[in-house]
Amino acid sequence: MSAGLNLAQQEAVNYLHGPCLVLAGAGSGKTRVITHKIARLIQAGLAPRRIAAITFTNKAAAEMRERAKGLIGRQAKEVVVCTFHALGVRMMREDGKVLGLKPQFSILDADDVTSILKDAAGGTADAATARQWQWVISKWKNMGLNAEQAMALAADDNERVIARVMQLYQERLAAYQSVDFDDLIGLPLKLLKDFPEVRAKWQAALGHVLVDEYQDTNATQYEVLKHLVGERGRFTAVGDDDQSIYGWRGATLDNLKKLPVDFPQLKVIKLEQNYRSTSAILRAANNVIGPNPKLFPKTLFSELGEGEPVRVVDADSEEHEAERAAARIMGLRETSQHKEWRHFAILYRANHQAKPFEKALRKYNIPYKVSGGTSFFDRAEIRDLCAWFRLWVNNDDDPAFLRAITTPRRGIGHTTLAKLGEFGAKYRLSLFASLFSASLPGMLPERAMDGLREFGRYMNDLEYRARQTMGAEAALAFLMEWLKEIGYEQHLLEGEDSEKVAAARWGNVIDFCDWMSQRCGGQIDDASGANPVLANETKSLMEVAQTISLLSTISEREQDQDVVTLSTLHASKGLEWPHVVLVGVTEGMLPFKLDDDGGRQKMVSDETAQRLQEERRLMYVGITRAQRSLAVSWTRRRKKGREMVAVQPSRFIAEMALDKETTREDPREKLRALRAEFAKKALAGTAAAAAAERL
Ligand code: ATP
Ligand code: MG
Repeated sequence: MSAGLNLAQQEAVNYLHGPCLVLAGAGSGKTRVITHKIARLIQAGLAPRRIAAITFTNKAAAEMRERAKGLIGRQAKEVVVCTFHALGVRMMREDGKVLGLKPQFSILDADDVTSILKDAAGGTADAATARQWQWVISKWKNMGLNAEQAMALAADDNERVIARVMQLYQERLAAYQSVDFDDLIGLPLKLLKDFPEVRAKWQAALGHVLVDEYQDTNATQYEVLKHLVGERGRFTAVGDDDQSIYGWRGATLDNLKKLPVDFPQLKVIKLEQNYRSTSAILRAANNVIGPNPKLFPKTLFSELGEGEPVRVVDADSEEHEAERAAARIMGLRETSQHKEWRHFAILYRANHQAKPFEKALRKYNIPYKVSGGTSFFDRAEIRDLCAWFRLWVNNDDDPAFLRAITTPRRGIGHTTLAKLGEFGAKYRLSLFASLFSASLPGMLPERAMDGLREFGRYMNDLEYRARQTMGAEAALAFLMEWLKEIGYEQHLLEGEDSEKVAAARWGNVIDFCDWMSQRCGGQIDDASGANPVLANETKSLMEVAQTISLLSTISEREQDQDVVTLSTLHASKGLEWPHVVLVGVTEGMLPFKLDDDGGRQKMVSDETAQRLQEERRLMYVGITRAQRSLAVSWTRRRKKGREMVAVQPSRFIAEMALDKETTREDPREKLRALRAEFAKKALAGTAAAAAAERL
């Protein structure tokens, strides 16, 4: 088992019976320690299902399961590899009844939450206010406060208003048998803390818990971990304080500081060799992170040789920058040993920056995917379908009810729905249950009643059929029939001015149905982590529908495609590519708008200083994704509204302290690009030639 591990890594992998923290810089093999340790634990006799490996995203979970499979084969399927949220879902499906939750509770997304908040406040709030409330309520929940406690601690009238809204919001969630994302951590913690028998059950069930990207856990997640492992503390956490980039979402480095205090027997292991990047890249990374205060001193070295110098590329505009990035990728693909598109990534600070790069890549027929941006699952058509599934799973999910009954429209108007809502509120019934109540007919005209009843019956019928439908083929047939019955394609055609857009959306729907049904089939790995143990059994469509609410960030569909990755820096965490182009590296973008004056002023507020440090860590994360080559690019001008404004290169470029001679773009690159474009001519035609002229 020691193959491919250095001594320090082996030590971490072989330390099985107590708490272990691996603290090390980027690319030093922390994630590798986790996968090898899973194998080691199994070798030492621990049943795979008693091992939980917690990752930061569903995608990372899928990748880890894949890597574990490479080491231990089929047994990897039984290991619980998932995010904290997915583990929370599992715990609540099994044990949520002690909190009054039925196993088929619904998971609300951010949009549902906003509309419930607006509604709870009597419809008086606009969307921006509701989102601000949502932010505050989420913060309180992450601090472990309930509405009552929040009210007691409220500092001013505004906070008192929000605490009151939180109270109403929580009542609605209970009535809808629904939870929000914060509850997926908060409620499992409550289960573990307040119910000794539940705690004992989970502590016995899990023999070892491994946590990747530990530096980005929040206080509640830490508490969950602590209660899961109990006093024996059989866990392995790996992390890097220099890569903590979710402070804005409540992640706290205190979790690193707490470990040795809460677990005095903690074994701390440091890794110093970076196996990912060349020395040139690593030096730039170390220089950038240098000014940040250190939690633990670290040194990182690479034996991969000096490599290509890090390039700084400037451009006149974002379009120009995108052209240059595309040309660089085409050139490197031609001249380096990396011939596949998947070897390249373009990374940026914010989602909206992707656009010009998408356009440039399309222009040259370079296949790409956008990750960390608007997910497939955030598309309106997919969310429409999901609303129906949610309602099958949980009839009390009122937000899903409202979306399903109006999509496509079936002649049931707002007045009818408002009346139904009043009735439900009065008798404390969900909308779906209200519709079957014997006292409802007196309140509504007959025609409206007929429409509602018909919808209710149809829904019950679907639910019944979904329960009976097993296996991929049957599931796909069922889904297509259902879409025909409700006239969904027609609905898309009517809702879109452009037929092309409607067709693309319908294509997404087909894609989604295909994917859903495959999950019923039993051949596909369950990469969501939502149902890790059941991964390979044949499932009913209903069972699959139960897990989809969690999949909003999943990107397993995109795996294994030979495409260039476009990604935000946040979503690039933990990943690596041979060639990386870091774009939009200007003041105001990276670091993102700070209220200082570009670092010239000495007195910056504490908060600004902290934000700057987090931005610097983000830059460090970006640089350290690159294995063989790195280019950092910036534009002299950027669009701001309709105007073009002048912008400065990021201070982080200077902080990389690159050798002046090497920062300028390699003149050979132009040649490479031209050559590459020449080769591509057949595909891209005159567009490539035009681009070459601009370089
Ligand atoms: P990050 O901080 O970015 O999450 P990490 O510390 O988790 O990085 P890994 O992703 O585990 O690092 O490893 C980085 C790269 O180095 C991977 O390609 C991995 O396979 C390789 N690697 C790690 N350890 C070794 C080793 N002992 N021998 C050879 N290659 C290694
Ligand atoms: Mg890692």
